[in-house]
Amino acid sequence: MSSKDRSEVQNLDRRRFMTTVGAAAGSVALAGLACQSAQAAELPKLAETDPLAVSMGYKEDTKKVDGKKHTNHKPNQTCDNCRFYQGTSGDFGPCQIFAAKAVAAKGWCQVWAAK
Ligand code: SF4
Repeated sequence: MSSKDRSEVQNLDRRRFMTTVGAAAGSVALAGLACQSAQAAELPKLAETDPLAVSMGYKEDTKKVDGKKHTNHKPNQTCDNCRFYQGTSGDFGPCQIFAAKAVAAKGWCQVWAAK
């Protein structure tokens, strides 16, 4: 085999490797997204009556937050613009503060912090 042939084989192997790695990485990323979305859909919704939710002043609708009680609340603060919200689509999503529960995208609690 000439050095030119060897070089072509190496280039072909490199292209195959990159194609395979790229396809595998894409599959893993898609599987991760599907898994994340399935997990969010499977999480039980956080009830406003949950003791931790009550202590954090959580409401499913930010418009229903008692502004006199929670003076730091602003009407434009919602879970989907909070740094702890992990939902990517839909009306509910995971929150880092309320583990294993889905919070309302338009909800709010006193831990709200801007993204
Ligand atoms: Fe919503 Fe943020 Fe409170 Fe979680 S921490 S419930 S995302 S406001």
